[in-house]
Amino acid sequence: MSPSEPGSDRDARGFATRAIHAGQHPDSGSGAVVVPLVQAATFIQKSPGQPGDYEYSRTGNPTRDAVEVNLASLERGFGAVACASGMAAIVMAFDLVPSGGRVVATSDSYGGTYRVGENVLRPRGLDFTWVDTSDAEATIRELDAGAAMLFLETPTNPMLRIADLETLSEAAHRAGAVVVVDNTFMSPYFQRPLELGADIVVHSSTKYLNGHSDGVGGILVARDPEHHERFKYLQNAAGAILSPFESWLLLRSTKTLALRMERHDRNAREIARMLVEHPEVTAVHYPGLPDHPGHELARRQMSGFGGMLSFDVGTMERARRVMEGLRVFHIAESLGGVESLANHPATMTHASVPEPMRRAIGIGDGLVRLSVGIEDIADLRQDLEDALETLG
Ligand SMILES: *Cc1c(COP(=O)(O)O)cnc(C)c1O
Repeated sequence: MSPSEPGSDRDARGFATRAIHAGQHPDSGSGAVVVPLVQAATFIQKSPGQPGDYEYSRTGNPTRDAVEVNLASLERGFGAVACASGMAAIVMAFDLVPSGGRVVATSDSYGGTYRVGENVLRPRGLDFTWVDTSDAEATIRELDAGAAMLFLETPTNPMLRIADLETLSEAAHRAGAVVVVDNTFMSPYFQRPLELGADIVVHSSTKYLNGHSDGVGGILVARDPEHHERFKYLQNAAGAILSPFESWLLLRSTKTLALRMERHDRNAREIARMLVEHPEVTAVHYPGLPDHPGHELARRQMSGFGGMLSFDVGTMERARRVMEGLRVFHIAESLGGVESLANHPATMTHASVPEPMRRAIGIGDGLVRLSVGIEDIADLRQDLEDALETLG
């Protein structure tokens, strides 16, 4: 199959094999085993109006094509488009909603999703209803009231709530709504929404897909050829493309996605268990813990629990002391990289969420979110133990 050809869902090989080989053919000229970085804006034509496979890099680029085939294969979609950022991919998905159409969306979605919905798209005639999608009944009630799109994020950030992808996709389809899932937190290694009934998957590839905190990007994967065709059209027409270099970095990264996700998951499980036992910690939110409200559902629809968790130490002052005491974990925004990061949602990632809404979601001033990296678990444990000791 040529790298530009969609339909990679027919590939029967395993995940780790497809991660390394899907869309990635040795260069026919040099024999290089790595897909070349084609850092070119334009391509020659043999005769006027007679382009070869490529003519202009907004329309198509061999390196970007390769990463699109790769991600479509990993998500089990028909085809993918690679975008300049996760937000560019999300805005492209919302383009499927006609003017005046209603979107039912996860209330504790990524803050940027809420911002673009309320401040950019609502003034242009889209209607957004934000619901707690871990409450299936409440979500189905909203869908039955009429919706053009169901937009889900699961698990959510930073409370790690789980939405039932199969039940909600079915209900959305009955209501005539298209289903979009932001799969950034799990990556296709642990969760494949298209296999559970969703129509479209979006990613901030900035996070686990890139995994090295050295590139910003977004991916849209469609199950349906017509959606894929529309996204290809939009990618060329609107132009928020992933650059050849970012595409090349992402191809480098997905090769190790399986290994990285396994290690993120193993480390996070151990950190969660340690925090649950710790006397200074009042609550731990991690879907891998048996008393997490979404635990059983998470076990059914995910094959791992991932590397994200949050925990509460009660007050802003205590959260600050713990975070300042960390030496291996860095205090930073973002997530999903090989390095462990700590974030204080109330003053960092979720500072723009109005306080009453923050409270309603459950984001207290003492909440700390961790993106557990792939360092040695003994060092991560020790780092947290030392930092928590400053509270005693
Ligand atoms: C970061 C993030 C986004 C936005 O992606 P960018 O690449 O920063 O534009 C969207 N959804 C989730 C879940 C994210 O974590």
